[in-house]
Amino acid sequence: MFMQALSKEITEDIRCCVCGNTNPNKFKLIYRRENFDVTECNNCGFYFIPPYYRKKIEYQQYKNEAVTQAITLRK
Ligand SMILES: [Zn+2]
Repeated sequence: MFMQALSKEITEDIRCCVCGNTNPNKFKLIYRRENFDVTECNNCGFYFIPPYYRKKIEYQQYKNEAVTQAITLRK
């Protein structure tokens, strides 16, 4: 079985926030979810969701963060 390749729109703005790697050839797809993929940086081994997907799901994340913060502040 061929390893699934990352699509172009994903690799265009990909960046590892640990080592700063932006070379599309130095990332590999780890697994595919319904709404996003998880990639691994070949440089440092960091697993992350590419920025391409984070733009789509950030609202949900911000919402969760806001809720977490609200709960924290109430204590
Ligand atoms: Zn890295």
